[in-house]
Amino acid sequence: MPFKTIIEPFRIKAVEPIRHTTRAEREAALQAAGYNLFLLKAEDVLIDLLTDSGTGAMSSAQWAGVMQGDESYAGARSFYRFEAAVQEITHLKHVIPTHQGRAAERILFGSLLKPDDIVPNNTHFDTTRANVEYRHAQALDIPIAEARRPQELHPFKGNIDLKVLAQILTEQREHIPLVMITVTNNSGGGQPVSMANIRAASEICRSHGVPLFLDACRFAENAWFIKMREEGYADATPMAIAQEMFSYVDGCTMSAKKDGMANIGGFLALNDDDLAQRCKNMLILTEGFPTYGGLAGYDLEAIAVGLHEALDEDYLRYRIRSVAYLGEILTREGIPMVQPPGGHAIYLDAKSMLAHIPPGEFPAWALSLALYLEGGIRSVEIGSVMFGLQPDGSEIPATNELVRLAFPRRVYTQSHVDYVAEVLIHVNNRRDRIRGVRMVESPPVLRHFTARFEPGEDGLIVG
Ligand SMILES: *Cc1c(COP(=O)(O)O)cnc(C)c1O
Repeated sequence: MPFKTIIEPFRIKAVEPIRHTTRAEREAALQAAGYNLFLLKAEDVLIDLLTDSGTGAMSSAQWAGVMQGDESYAGARSFYRFEAAVQEITHLKHVIPTHQGRAAERILFGSLLKPDDIVPNNTHFDTTRANVEYRHAQALDIPIAEARRPQELHPFKGNIDLKVLAQILTEQREHIPLVMITVTNNSGGGQPVSMANIRAASEICRSHGVPLFLDACRFAENAWFIKMREEGYADATPMAIAQEMFSYVDGCTMSAKKDGMANIGGFLALNDDDLAQRCKNMLILTEGFPTYGGLAGYDLEAIAVGLHEALDEDYLRYRIRSVAYLGEILTREGIPMVQPPGGHAIYLDAKSMLAHIPPGEFPAWALSLALYLEGGIRSVEIGSVMFGLQPDGSEIPATNELVRLAFPRRVYTQSHVDYVAEVLIHVNNRRDRIRGVRMVESPPVLRHFTARFEPGEDGLIVG
């Protein structure tokens, strides 16, 4: 191919208008929302990069699947299609559908964890951490040292620290019912985990008789990074790479709202017969019968098709490239971000960019508010609001103060990305004028979803 432009590998069949607002309207919207972007009305947002979860565009093949949904209560054809799609990729024995990823987490941890247990993970996602802590167990993050230095380059910055893993399994084996690896490492910057790391972690776990689970939400994006960056995988298909990733684990939790390319859904898949039975009993209690697990037959169809589409090479090339493209513009402009760019998102480094705002005034939260106020862009804080509150009620500033710009799948085009870059440059030029915020109301768990804030007397941005 003589051409280097990577185009969106689809054409658009249905469009949804997005709405411009004035700065004054956005100011009022922020005030009404308690300066919490989760509490905005979505129609007041121009470019919504809050999350890539369930926000993607389904394909015509998925919509066709929706029409074929079998809504039988038990044994529906759609379940068997779903199960076959999951098993082709994972080869895991028991496939348990759930309404989304956190339900899979709750059921798994509810069946497996006792108080004072420890779950090591490269980095727990927020709902994963909350579900571990809800069982009075400890969610222990053990990423490699490079993960704690946002601007340091590493091809597989999502890797779990194998030395620490081996050490903790040697010392605390009886308190560790499972180990998890999150691919890609969402809270750690959307960074991939190498095949060598998964393989080695699996060997360590096996030698201690502890099961290893993947938090598999972005397994396809992780497979693409392995293809691009790890020796020996350049000619392998994303499907073959994904299959190898899953061959090293005993189970996984999955949010189909990510690389399932669906708007809702998830699953738990595992090999252990006895544990699967206990999980299915819990599933019946709160989600539904094991052949639908809180989903409609048509959702199961959409996921079955979506899991395959997520592994399409043209799609993955475009997906990873559009995030890298924004990353290149920001790097050129000297805007601090987690390097290299992640698979599904850019993570701005607010600790560097807004060094004048102390952690207690939530610099990353303030930056995300500024992006909305100036450009109508919604992002999400991954910093001290999300992770600062400890289970005992104390407050410890998060290691990193990040703002995540997550890209919904197949939704925005290159001109949207160019607009985002322009707003970021504009806000970065005014960074010295951005002020911190005060938390005035906060719930005891997952507080970032509903906490309310107030800016200081000078407002969010002075002058
Ligand atoms: C989204 C996500 C979850 C939770 O899935 P939901 O479908 O939102 O419940 C768990 N882990 C990771 C890494 C995620 O990105």
